[in-house]
Amino acid sequence: MKSNPKFETLAIKSTENKFSNSKPASTPIYLSSTYERNSDGSYTNDFVYSRDNNPNRKIVEQSVALLEKGNFGFAFSSGMAAVSAVFQSLKTGDHILLPDDIYYAIKKLMEEVFKHWNLTYDIVDMANLEMVKKSIKKSTSLIWVESPSNPQLKITDISAISAIAKENNMLCAVDNTWATPVFQNPLGLNADIVMHSSTKYFGGHSDVIGGCIVVNDENLAKKIKNIQLLSGAVPSPFDCWLIARGIQTLHLRVTKQTENALKLAYFLEMHPKIEKVLYPGLISHPQHLIAKKQFKNGFGAMLSVLIKGDETEAFKISTNLNYFKTATSLGGVESLIEHRKSVEGKNSSTPSNLLRISVGIEHIDDLIEDWKQALI
Ligand SMILES: *Cc1c(COP(=O)(O)O)cnc(C)c1O
Repeated sequence: MKSNPKFETLAIKSTENKFSNSKPASTPIYLSSTYERNSDGSYTNDFVYSRDNNPNRKIVEQSVALLEKGNFGFAFSSGMAAVSAVFQSLKTGDHILLPDDIYYAIKKLMEEVFKHWNLTYDIVDMANLEMVKKSIKKSTSLIWVESPSNPQLKITDISAISAIAKENNMLCAVDNTWATPVFQNPLGLNADIVMHSSTKYFGGHSDVIGGCIVVNDENLAKKIKNIQLLSGAVPSPFDCWLIARGIQTLHLRVTKQTENALKLAYFLEMHPKIEKVLYPGLISHPQHLIAKKQFKNGFGAMLSVLIKGDETEAFKISTNLNYFKTATSLGGVESLIEHRKSVEGKNSSTPSNLLRISVGIEHIDDLIEDWKQALI
């Protein structure tokens, strides 16, 4: 690309059709599982077999790498498959530091799958840098960061954690799902690995499951590529097509969603029936200053509220809402709300009066009116 295009331009340019001779403006879906050789045995565009590579996947992988300002992108069949690929790249006996407020399925994946492969881990408060340093063992090879975290919106200083990782010869991986590359580029803050659940903001319409990883280091990229190819948790061409299509409007959607989220956060913070609003854009957020330094142009479209009352009250409020579907997941154009503790189960440390909100692109006046009537 000639100049230095901005995010919105990159998102369109990087997802354009590249592989068809008839030049359709919109990329076709390449369902073929296999590709014909040329007479000399070579393959056009390096496509051989779709577990290895595919035009729709290649578009997604190149696009997410560009948007995350990294060298190599990899698409997976889900966010969890992308996380698994990172864990699979470690050695048995390796030790990992996980944040205390982490996407619950990642902790479960460690506890219920990778523990049996002899990967060990400790859970630390990533806001406490001294504790992070103290928790490092000889065998620690990875620090996993999630910022903002799910569901308590904790912010981790990615540069500080990456520096600790570098000093100790470890990798720092960042789950950037909630921030999106519109607001945060962890590789630019010296992280080694960025991971996304593309099910969320990349897809953006609650109709596709996917994940991706972006890295800068060539050796690490080779490892991840090999795991992707051999483990085979690859996304289908149609899923990639949906994600590439989602990426084209990512900036537009999340900008609007984030504007709405901030306004809703201000409104809810002032409401007498709300105990607390967890949103990094609020001055009341304990890591607001780090958030201000780390985010570009907005604080994302996820927030959680602690309501005054218990679980029953929380359920009542969420069902009173008309424009917020009570469903899991996030990042789609429609607003969603969820009582996290009941999803995470008994061992969850999420407060029972917490409701997690994924703010959509509806008109903010309607969203606020909806909360007004639901909180009566
Ligand atoms: C959804 C999510 C994941 C898991 O992604 P899937 O696409 O559901 O497999 C991981 N991390 C975060 C922060 C998420 O929100």
